[in-house]
Amino acid sequence: MRRLNGDSADFESALAALEVPMDSDDGDVRSTVADIIADIERRGEPALLEYTRRFDQLDVDAICELEVSREELERALSELPGEQRDALSEAAKRIETFHRKQLSDDWSYDDGLGNRLGQRLTPLRRVGVYVPGGKASYPSSVLMNAIPARVAGVSEIIMVAPTPGGYRNPLVLAAAALAGVHRMFCVGGAQAVAALALGTTAIPRVDKIVGPGNRFVAEAKRQVFGRVGIDMIAGPSEILIIADGSAAPEWMAMDLFSQAEHDESAQALLLCPDAAYIEAVDAAVERLLPQMERSAIIRASLDKRGALIQTRDIAHAAAISNALAPEHLELAVADPEALLPLIDAAGAIFMGIHSCEALGDYCAGPNHVLPTSGSARFFSPLGVYDFQKRSSIIHCSAQGAVPLARVAQVLAEGESLTAHARSAAMRIVD
Ligand code: NAD
Repeated sequence: MRRLNGDSADFESALAALEVPMDSDDGDVRSTVADIIADIERRGEPALLEYTRRFDQLDVDAICELEVSREELERALSELPGEQRDALSEAAKRIETFHRKQLSDDWSYDDGLGNRLGQRLTPLRRVGVYVPGGKASYPSSVLMNAIPARVAGVSEIIMVAPTPGGYRNPLVLAAAALAGVHRMFCVGGAQAVAALALGTTAIPRVDKIVGPGNRFVAEAKRQVFGRVGIDMIAGPSEILIIADGSAAPEWMAMDLFSQAEHDESAQALLLCPDAAYIEAVDAAVERLLPQMERSAIIRASLDKRGALIQTRDIAHAAAISNALAPEHLELAVADPEALLPLIDAAGAIFMGIHSCEALGDYCAGPNHVLPTSGSARFFSPLGVYDFQKRSSIIHCSAQGAVPLARVAQVLAEGESLTAHARSAAMRIVD
């Protein structure tokens, strides 16, 4: 793998060369998606059926044929082989337990003048969950996106997933049943995002669209943002490992692979102060890579964006990690608790050598929808809070309003907003 030294003069530029831009800079994708959205807006379902025929090789006469009934979802769950059903149920249970901890309460306080001020939380009414399905199926994405919505109290969860050639993946259907999806439609791509954002005869318009997808899906979410809420725009997946040599080099190699196998643009980095250990990890990478089913993708990802980086010490590794704000950060060190205070930006932090990212991807409990491309500097993992909105509550009493009105009147006059000043002044009554 590529070797870098965190102290070398060209380190910053070498690292920058491994970045991919967050913004879609592909004009073709932008205009293709804009055309699809405009077409769905103009023609509605006939356009949706046409794109489904073209991109998913699925030819039906009416959109109702693309809706999966609640009975079919439940049947998929009950017919799943026992081992898969148990694993899916266990993952769903753990994800729900974690997300229930994120529920917060309304609050209010009395200002001492007779007024109550507070904040009220209400769930979004209807959300759309996009589950990718063009090249592979992702039941874990169903759980990670729909369970927090259900926990938040969303009344209607509409899921869309492309089903190329009409094949409905039983694990995806079963996950939808477990997660509490209310309706599912077998549509995908920009046309599905547009249908959710605009509404069609059969597919109801939603308030927010969440879930990952390819560049057409990501670009469509970007373009409909504002008409509906979106969770985030996901870039290629990333892992950064800070290692002190506590783990077997093979474990580190496999953890790097587990990210790199997602796609050729995924990024896998390992930072370590010990040159001999870096050598051992590199050797493990070369030894294990040929055994991997997706070795070509892994190799391409490691060549394009991967690196083994020697740092001065562990604190230096933490500083580099903070600058990158990785999606997944593994602290593969003997004392992760001592290192944690040095970390200030990462989507999910995996503590110690037994906490590999794969466990977080499927079943530990925390969400696997995480900020990428350095956006962990300002974004958080998908959570229950993404499916709630906050309203401020202002409840003034007759006496309590008077001192506030005096303040407001003065400030409004200073802004020459006469109606504001008079509206406030009308509350100044004996
Ligand atoms: P997808 O569902 O995102 O996209 C399939 C759709 O893309 C098709 O239905 C079609 O409408 C559209 N499309 C394909 N080619 C097109 C073209 N030329 N013009 C217009 N539209 C076109 O499925 P996918 O392609 O398998 O991609 C899934 C992506 O989601 C992958 O990049 C994967 O890594 C990512 N993913 C991310 C996470 C996460 O949590 N971050 C989880 C799972 C998957």
